[in-house]
Amino acid sequence: MSVDENRVASSLGDDPDALSALLRRESLISWAAQARQWDRENCFAREAIRELASTGVMGATFSVQDGGVGASLRQVLEAVRLASLHTGVLGRVIVDSNLGPAAMIATYGNEAMRHEVLAATRNGDKPAIAITEPDAGSAAADLTTTVHRDATGNLSVTGQKKWITGAPESRHYVVFARFNAIPGSRGIGLVLARKEQRGIEFGVVPRMMGMRGLPEGSLTFDNLSLSQDDVILQPGDGFKRGMEIYNSQRLGAAMVACSVAESALNMAVEYARTRRQFGRPIGDNQGLRWMLADMAIDVETALAYLRRVADNADRSGNRFSPDPVEVAMAKIKCAEMAIRVTNGALQVFGARGYDTELPVERLCRDARMFTIAGGTAEMLRNLVGKAVLSHARHD
Ligand SMILES: Cc1cc2nc3c(=O)[nH]c(=O)nc-3n(C[C@H](O)[C@H](O)[C@H](O)COP(=O)(O)OP(=O)(O)OC[C@H]3O[C@@H](n4cnc5c(N)ncnc54)[C@H](O)[C@@H]3O)c2cc1C
Repeated sequence: MSVDENRVASSLGDDPDALSALLRRESLISWAAQARQWDRENCFAREAIRELASTGVMGATFSVQDGGVGASLRQVLEAVRLASLHTGVLGRVIVDSNLGPAAMIATYGNEAMRHEVLAATRNGDKPAIAITEPDAGSAAADLTTTVHRDATGNLSVTGQKKWITGAPESRHYVVFARFNAIPGSRGIGLVLARKEQRGIEFGVVPRMMGMRGLPEGSLTFDNLSLSQDDVILQPGDGFKRGMEIYNSQRLGAAMVACSVAESALNMAVEYARTRRQFGRPIGDNQGLRWMLADMAIDVETALAYLRRVADNADRSGNRFSPDPVEVAMAKIKCAEMAIRVTNGALQVFGARGYDTELPVERLCRDARMFTIAGGTAEMLRNLVGKAVLSHARHD
């Protein structure tokens, strides 16, 4: 696709905050309060997601012709940031409903599919992406979920997916599957499966360490019957194209991590100002100040780089497929920074940080997922390392 073909009409203009402006302060505060309950009860944030959908931030990247607003990558990331400062769970919903699976449908889905998924997304259904299998995690191209295409063109899907964010609550699943046993990544295409179809069974949702409020379920396909119209991307270059768009989701996840860290930093700063020991605020101690300074440097530099990667993608007309190496660098930076900063915040709070009454320990657990989900830090380092070694630097 040329740059011009990639450009989309937007009804939001160029203001990076145009999408986040739709998020209401009262709702953000109420969602932050509910996050504790989602965490304790390991329950789905159903009502909050419906409320989020009513603001118009879900499905905002769909084109104006399809009924969306054509939001840019930067606009989505700013909305993700604002939501995630209050609860990362809803930040992740904004990611998946605009980037990743939503972007795959918006870009490659047929007209009926685009309209169906956008309508559901607007009603608070977060589309899900199903790549990982019990025996194919980092080695995603080794997946064995199989689409058998018969002579009449009908499709039948068999296999299993695991740790799928949104399952079993989500209605739409973008499933990466191998067509007719063709080996390697060239055998992989993308199909759309729907929750209510016969031939899909959902597995028990485990209690994950953090980010509770969104389930991580498994799907088993037993001769799930689909038609040609359910194919999003054909094998051949389907896997490559799908993974190009997956980079938008990775960048969104990096922003959630960054905001979780920023939120923990804000709490730690406030506590350091008000908690007194030895007759003065603990923040008066140089050791603690330096710690907070390092945390602030960590957050600000990560955020600045994230925004640069998103702006680069928007400027080059690739809002759904930001540069993979830049994305890998941003995701590693933000994910590892979030673990450091949330842990630093817990340290500032002393015993209160370790106590589950305050949200700090939850933020530590929430932050832990980002070096694993969406490509581990090690796999992303492999990508960055390869790129670094293949580009001689002359400046
Ligand atoms: C909260 C959460 C949400 C998720 N959501 C989704 C989702 O919505 N959809 C989906 O499809 N998947 C999802 N996943 C799955 C996720 O993408 C995988 O966990 C991830 O790709 C890693 O696969 P794995 O867990 O099988 O680890 P493995 O691939 O088994 O790796 C185990 C360890 O070995 C390391 N390793 C493996 N190969 C190499 C190598 N070549 N070089 C260096 N190190 C290596 C890894 O970095 C890791 O540390 C989610 C996971 C989590 C935790």
